[in-house]
Amino acid sequence: MSVDIDDPPLPPHLQLEVTSACNLRCVMCLVRYRPPVNKLAGAMRPDLFHRLLAAVPALSRMTLQGLGEPLLSPYLMEMVRAAVARGITVGFNTNATLLTRGRAEELVDSRVDWLHVSLDGAGAGVYEAVREGADFARVVANLAGLVHAKRAVPAGRSPVSPRGAADPTRATPAPPPPGGPG
Ligand code: SF4
Repeated sequence: MSVDIDDPPLPPHLQLEVTSACNLRCVMCLVRYRPPVNKLAGAMRPDLFHRLLAAVPALSRMTLQGLGEPLLSPYLMEMVRAAVARGITVGFNTNATLLTRGRAEELVDSRVDWLHVSLDGAGAGVYEAVREGADFARVVANLAGLVHAKRAVPAGRSPVSPRGAADPTRATPAPPPPGGPG
């Protein structure tokens, strides 16, 4: 395929850092080694997000995560819903420490396509040594809550999946790329 270098095509996939704030200080992450970021100051403003969405009409996939914990963004759900409404396959990485039952239900209801949950260890010892500030039991409980929220959705509409949408009313997404830390 030839590409016009004076007028290159717009990308079909965007990865946006919706917040640079994080509630953890994982040992392998740059976030640990920089000053803490306030969750409001560190959040991408919705007007910028909507301008980006409008500027790339052929967008088919979005990853709403860079460095930082997406669930700290007060605008995350607005962004997910806007992407879903456009038919864009959308998801994000999360450390799941803030994935309360209410947030899980909101996410399922939003029809987000995928979530990657970062678990660096199969037990509290290793996990909490790597993920400073996290509570292994809390994250496991949060994931159980997410599964419960998903199972509460009526048969035939299963909106959120770890690796893609199972909802027949939406296009089946390609597996998402790694989103970086989360
Ligand atoms: S790896 Fe993720 S959860 Fe851990 S400090 Fe970095 S951004 Fe936060």
